[in-house]
Amino acid sequence: MAETEIPVLIVGGGGCGLSASVFLSDQGVDHLLVERHPDTSSLPKAHYLNQRTMEIFRQHGLVEDVLAEAAPLEKFGKVRWQTTLAGDGPLDRRLIHEMDAFGGGGLRERYAAAGPVLPAKLPQIWLEPILRRHAERRNPGRILFGRELIGFSDEGDHVVAQVREMETGRVDTIRARYLLGADGGRMVGPAAGIELQGPPGEVNTTTVYFSADLSQWWEEGTLITHFLSPEDPDLSCNLIEMGPSWGKDCEQWALHFAPGPPGRWNAETVVPRIRELLGLPDLEVTVHKVTDWVVHSLLADRYRAGRVLIAGDAAHRQPPAVGLGLNTGIQDAHNLAWKLAAVLDGRAGDGLLDTYEAERRPVGRENVDWAVSAAVHHQALLDAVGVGHRVPAGIRRRRLEAYFDPSPLGETVRARAREMFHTHRGGCQALDMEIGFHYEEGALVPDGSRPPARAPMRDVHRPTTRPGHRLPHAWIERDGRRLSTLDLAGPTRFALITGPEGTPWCRAAERMAEKFSVPVATARIGDGADYADADGGWAAVREIADAGAILVRPDQHVAWRSPGGDAEPEQTLAEVFTALLDR
Ligand SMILES: Cc1cc2nc3c(=O)[nH]c(=O)nc-3n(C[C@H](O)[C@H](O)[C@H](O)COP(=O)(O)OP(=O)(O)OC[C@H]3O[C@@H](n4cnc5c(N)ncnc54)[C@H](O)[C@@H]3O)c2cc1C
Repeated sequence: MAETEIPVLIVGGGGCGLSASVFLSDQGVDHLLVERHPDTSSLPKAHYLNQRTMEIFRQHGLVEDVLAEAAPLEKFGKVRWQTTLAGDGPLDRRLIHEMDAFGGGGLRERYAAAGPVLPAKLPQIWLEPILRRHAERRNPGRILFGRELIGFSDEGDHVVAQVREMETGRVDTIRARYLLGADGGRMVGPAAGIELQGPPGEVNTTTVYFSADLSQWWEEGTLITHFLSPEDPDLSCNLIEMGPSWGKDCEQWALHFAPGPPGRWNAETVVPRIRELLGLPDLEVTVHKVTDWVVHSLLADRYRAGRVLIAGDAAHRQPPAVGLGLNTGIQDAHNLAWKLAAVLDGRAGDGLLDTYEAERRPVGRENVDWAVSAAVHHQALLDAVGVGHRVPAGIRRRRLEAYFDPSPLGETVRARAREMFHTHRGGCQALDMEIGFHYEEGALVPDGSRPPARAPMRDVHRPTTRPGHRLPHAWIERDGRRLSTLDLAGPTRFALITGPEGTPWCRAAERMAEKFSVPVATARIGDGADYADADGGWAAVREIADAGAILVRPDQHVAWRSPGGDAEPEQTLAEVFTALLDR
């Protein structure tokens, strides 16, 4: 039995744990990751990488590799509702509604203005190998697949964990200063006394992963295509491209069936159902997996218990609507990485780690609730068309005939439904859910201002430099090089951004960098300053005067701001850093 000492032990090599490993490596934090499976996920699962996640990947040098494999926005920027995929009947292949979604079509300009990188689509089955490659490259020999955490104890100033090598059964002991549970909630949280709270899961969904050549029938360009079967409520489902090619060339697919009893189909019995629902009786189908899973809406009562921290599905579980699950987990890891680094090397007090829960748990709460509400609302859309899940066979066809009827009444039915579909912007155009989450308390110094009012559908994002919010993106230029304001901060450094008259703040920040041993980049933006405001975007969002200053954390969230100059900039910044770093 070997014994290892390590600052951080990550349990779980899913999207959250592997991202945490990459982020910690970039922070210079020595760590081990253990994952019980021999390899990354064999199922596609999450597939939408939202704009904030892509910004984080950009900060950590992952975005090029992700984009090399991901579907570009043109290939997925819509959601569609239709009757069947194929068939020649009067109700086959009828488009019910289509809307721009997740930054596609008419939304593109709004998303492009909001951040330096657009959302992408890359299922976990392809994303996780990229994350694993980067994790291993940045932390060679310490990303251990085929190793399972079997127990641990929190000894107050460290954790002692037992890890079993799956192949040999050998058990090693690992002493870590902190243990990060990114294990999907399977063991670490419950063993640390953390409880996932929420109503019992009620709805069973059956997901089928399969390969088939649908190129003749598939209309590319959607993230999700919902089928509202004219015949059978059981055959209402959504179909999602899972790559590795995109559009008509896509080889692998996921079908999420409407709620129904677990075990209703297996890999054989589901094949005729797939053929029936797609309207393709002779389709060659290879089923990879049929899974039943219960939709949960759960949130951990704590994100930290002593030396144990949790992130990702270990901390929150929600319906897949809106694609917030994995994204929230990656963003948890990003929030935590710089804090762990600062605490481990003594630049910050342990209290900085408490701000992880103070900041991320309210975001987890909001994202779980948002996903539940979007999923419930989607049922209302189906009802508006007249073919909700509970509408039985026999009636469905009549309802769809009424929907497509060319008569004035048919026109009214469609107009009503269109208005309902428009209200689904909160389900698939919620840019502000992706990049507008913010922290009211935590590693920040509030300035007494109120947050900007949020659009109820979250389809409008109002950038702000108010402490706790993500730094607004604007393009800036220096020596002919264009970069985003977001590039000024992180992964390991703070950024102090001022206007052209902010030199006293910059000097004070340089002295603070020495005093607190934290890297701080300074940047004056504006006419005649270090950086030009490339297209006036920064002036529109900075909310400070030319002599004001904004301190940005390594995770690109604003920590503090001053609307103008200050008689004692050094003393003011010293107080700010003391508070932020729990010194
Ligand atoms: C059908 C479906 C569609 C989805 N679509 C989206 C989407 O579009 N966008 C989105 O953001 N989210 C989506 N999600 C949610 C997403 O899949 C999850 O939120 C995500 O997988 C969570 O990642 P994680 O790393 O936290 O946990 P997991 O992926 O569950 O990874 C945890 C890992 O920990 C390992 N582990 C567990 N216990 C131990 C142990 N004792 N020792 C060692 N290893 C251990 C497990 O083997 C596993 O690999 C979807 C989910 C489903 C089911």
